[in-house]
Amino acid sequence: MFIIWGKKYVYRKIGFVADFCPICRTVHAFVVKRVGLAGHLYYISAGEGELAGFERTCESCATTFVTDTDKYREIVKKSPSLADLRTQTFPDLDVVMHDRLALEARIAKAPMLLSRDERNALILGPFMLLAQKVEKRYASTDLDKEVGLALVAALVLMTAGPAASLALFPDGGPAVMLGFMVLALALVAWQMMVAKRRFMTRKVVPLLAKALRPLKPSDNELQAALAQMRQAGHKIGIKLKLPELQAQLH
Ligand SMILES: [Zn+2]
Repeated sequence: MFIIWGKKYVYRKIGFVADFCPICRTVHAFVVKRVGLAGHLYYISAGEGELAGFERTCESCATTFVTDTDKYREIVKKSPSLADLRTQTFPDLDVVMHDRLALEARIAKAPMLLSRDERNALILGPFMLLAQKVEKRYASTDLDKEVGLALVAALVLMTAGPAASLALFPDGGPAVMLGFMVLALALVAWQMMVAKRRFMTRKVVPLLAKALRPLKPSDNELQAALAQMRQAGHKIGIKLKLPELQAQLH
């Protein structure tokens, strides 16, 4: 018998905090999760595992960041408003994030007055923040809605298809069956191939555009940032189509 076992990450929601989101460029509510590394047997794990860290996910843009929970006064189950959440969970946010908030104010006021080095670093920032998300998606075989539908369609093709055509053409035999099987496999393979492209279009480009828009980056600056990501070996540098990002920025 084939035994599948190993370690896997286990996530447990702890509560909410207020924090700064570098994609939204403002303070938002975040869901905080404990990340544990637990042993699994057939992908079923027992317990929450050894502590591997914590992550926070922005309630507005759904981007996840690794976080240090020591900076929060507490992590709460719920809060009536963002202002209350901020007071309860991160009351000294203004002090801790002072430099970043001052920089954000400069970006909002006059992004073109920032120095060339500042602009380059700020434009590269969102690409770096989203690089891991792209890396992770390209390494996995996660199914999206369309791939799921293709699987259902493939199942229908392989069952109802041959039955219907054999009723119409009784002499078809195995060739008909084979034809439908090839068609079904081709449909699923095609959808799996374009699923990653869809992920870039739906889950990465809009976030990049959101984070970059206030900086009003030029085409040259965007090209330079992408080239830098490519040189560093990040998939986002290869998979991102610049015209798609430019279209969303303008
Ligand atoms: Zn956000």
